[in-house]
Amino acid sequence: MVDANHSCAALKDQFGRTANYLRLSVTDRCDLRCTYCMTENMTFLPRKDVLSLEELYRLSTVFINHGVRKIRLTGGEPLVRKNVMSLFENLSRHMVSGELDELTLTTNGSLLSRYAGGLADCGVERVNVSLDTLDAERYRTITRWGKIDRVFAGLDAAQDAGLKVKLNAVAQKGQFERELDDLIRFAHGRNMDLTLIEEMPLGGSASCRSASFLSLGELRQRLEAQWTLEPLSETTGGPAKYVRLQETGGKIGFITPMSCDFCSDCNRIRLSCTGQLYTCMGQEGGLSLKDALRQSDGNETVAQLIRNKVFEKPRGHEFHIGEHDVNGITRAMSTLGG
Ligand code: SAM
Ligand code: SF4
Repeated sequence: MVDANHSCAALKDQFGRTANYLRLSVTDRCDLRCTYCMTENMTFLPRKDVLSLEELYRLSTVFINHGVRKIRLTGGEPLVRKNVMSLFENLSRHMVSGELDELTLTTNGSLLSRYAGGLADCGVERVNVSLDTLDAERYRTITRWGKIDRVFAGLDAAQDAGLKVKLNAVAQKGQFERELDDLIRFAHGRNMDLTLIEEMPLGGSASCRSASFLSLGELRQRLEAQWTLEPLSETTGGPAKYVRLQETGGKIGFITPMSCDFCSDCNRIRLSCTGQLYTCMGQEGGLSLKDALRQSDGNETVAQLIRNKVFEKPRGHEFHIGEHDVNGITRAMSTLGG
């Protein structure tokens, strides 16, 4: 039973930050196997461990009642979850009622052409699409078997449906650096912002992090030699710092969890598809909400667990990538979706 009309105090942590942005992972499964995210032979969760879409919705309403204003669906690949649109439809009611400011998703884009129209109908206005290269062969190598044309079709469909698209790219040494100017021209030429993400040492990937890690501080310096970067003070409520490129008029975001502090004003909390609540992506130790959810028709026990867990949110993450050492997290990126 959902106590949707009962509104509670905001979720505050011990350092005074307010958690009002929920990243909701609806599945750990994916139709791709990006090398920095997953191993080729991933073992996915047994279906019985994954919360139903109704349960994920019910938990979402508890967060909304505690002042969460923005929900991003992620995964794994959120669009591979069967019937995922029913969750968007349920959540969209909270957009209409004004309880949510934003409902959005991060997707690899492979199924976006099928869902873009439905997403727009649910009040989704912006989507993040992950794309690290424009080269079909390299895309296949990075994703292990992905077809880039499907992403391009997804981008077309999203823009045709009126969705604002932002591209996400994981920065890596080597070919990525050589292709970056093309990626920038492509994104900005299509009126899409581009966010660059530092590779994070989460489990599940076979790639050697120290070898592939590229500091965005370094990359930014190189971009400055090529382009005119105007720093912007605006934020989208996320961890990215933005610049505008004078030559294109488009924006580039830098997400630098490894080389800069982005924790001091963190407003994010994360829920896995099994009902584990994480208050920091860069720490182990989620709290399971599943039993409390299933053992009661009411939401107060779950709500109390959420309030306590958020209060204990740590000051910051504990990732580290050195030249010879990596301090990572055993959980795979696909468990929580970034
Ligand atoms: N499947 C969807 C996608 O790829 O957009 C959503 C989930 S994916 C885990 C979310 C984001 O995390 C993607 O932009 C992906 O590129 C990024 N990502 C995956 N592994 C990463 C890693 N080790 N470090 C930094 N970003 C990573
Ligand atoms: Fe799948 Fe996204 Fe991970 Fe790539 S980054 S394997 S698309 S979950």
